[in-house]
Amino acid sequence: MVPTAVISDVHANAEALRAVLADIDRRGLTRIISLGDIIGYGPDPRACVDLVRARCEWSLMGNHDFGVLYEPTNFNPGAESAAYWTREALDSEPDAALRKERYEFLGRLRVRVVEPGSTQSGPILAVHGSPRRPINEYIFPDDVVNAPDKLTTLFDRVPRLCLVGHTHVPGVFTSEPDFYPPGELTDGAYRFAPDEKAIINVGSVGQPRDLDPRAAYAILTDDRIEFVRIPYDVDATAKKIKAIPQLNDWLGDRLYEGR
Ligand code: ZN
Repeated sequence: MVPTAVISDVHANAEALRAVLADIDRRGLTRIISLGDIIGYGPDPRACVDLVRARCEWSLMGNHDFGVLYEPTNFNPGAESAAYWTREALDSEPDAALRKERYEFLGRLRVRVVEPGSTQSGPILAVHGSPRRPINEYIFPDDVVNAPDKLTTLFDRVPRLCLVGHTHVPGVFTSEPDFYPPGELTDGAYRFAPDEKAIINVGSVGQPRDLDPRAAYAILTDDRIEFVRIPYDVDATAKKIKAIPQLNDWLGDRLYEGR
């Protein structure tokens, strides 16, 4: 397969997305895919939809994309308010054709994609949340200890490799079950053993939650996944969030700490 940049959970953070795209370009990577949550929480939904549309081969639908497009189900008050503000921001686009194109793009996002991969990687399933409930189910690192049966059930639905986002915590789940954060991997990369199954969380571009404020993404090749972190102008995004009353200040504050 062509070396592929895998991004997820941009959450309308244009500063973080532009920094990640610049790194992808610097490395000469030509293929980008997105695991969803392009919008929601952040201050730049229009710019982020446009960048993902222009740069990604495809994107999945995340729970926040769904929430803005249809209805915010099971959202906390801050996330719900952000979803309604995001809809207003998309609706207030003065260019009617562009407004329609953005909504059509969001409406066409798929909830799961299966790619053939290569002989080394095997088939690759991509979902925002989990192979069982592709939009909404979280797979937490703690599940390895607290819910091993849940992971067994999820792995039953994984052909070989599964790419996920949603928790904003990067790392690799193996079927033991076990979880490997990037910091525990040699050179930040996980090498696939023959016939081994793995669920890979690529982390979040726009709202990391692993106590590292840098934007996260990953590079998938035939035999490995490499986790990448990129610093960006957190202050610029946080200030924009705080200038929008419908976006809770906490959504800006959390970016400084990556939580
Ligand atoms: Zn998300």
